[in-house]
Amino acid sequence: MKCPARYRHEVLEGLSALAEKSAYLRFHGCVRQVLVWMGDKACAGETATAREAVAYLDDVWRDRGPRGGFEAVYFAEARRMVSAAAALVDAGHRPVERVLSVVVASQTVVVRPDRVLEAPDGSIVIRRFRTGRRSKSEEEKPIWALLAAAGEAAFPGRVVHLQAFYPAAAEIVPIAPERDGTELAPYADALAGVARGEFAPVTSRDCPTCQFYFICTAEDSF
Ligand code: SF4
Repeated sequence: MKCPARYRHEVLEGLSALAEKSAYLRFHGCVRQVLVWMGDKACAGETATAREAVAYLDDVWRDRGPRGGFEAVYFAEARRMVSAAAALVDAGHRPVERVLSVVVASQTVVVRPDRVLEAPDGSIVIRRFRTGRRSKSEEEKPIWALLAAAGEAAFPGRVVHLQAFYPAAAEIVPIAPERDGTELAPYADALAGVARGEFAPVTSRDCPTCQFYFICTAEDSF
């Protein structure tokens, strides 16, 4: 979304396997895979315990975890993160379908947050798990406005709460994106760009952690 070139490499050119070369990205990939698995189980009415989450992580790590000198450090952190995610108790909340969609510029955009929960008071909680460090600018990311719109479309008339969960710190942060009616414009622009076949690189501070950093054609990504 932030960088059309990244989208092209990842989705259209199928180069996401390049990410497997980075220990850091492998570590995050393993944690994310476990979190997705836990989310699917929650939707099916099954809660994964910390022990089950760690056992599943062991399997995932064997297949795609990082190797090398820092493996033990990454592995310990991954175990800590999935355990924290499993320990997150949402008393009285009911997991509901987490594939949501919203119409942007006459096109349907599908989003899949990590958790969608129905609270005892009938409100809806949409939660994303953030495996990196907490960022001050998290609330400014356009995905949150998209999730808010998707939640309102799926649950008309309900109050929708957005949350970021940081398993590394076992912390939930409420998110309230600014919504002035133009907040979905970046998605409309991106959809128009895809339709025109334009995937220009857009550099940002994310570039050093982008899996396509070394093949990127942007002149100032370094
Ligand atoms: S390195 Fe930066 S500009 Fe290049 S593809 Fe990745 S995110 Fe986009």
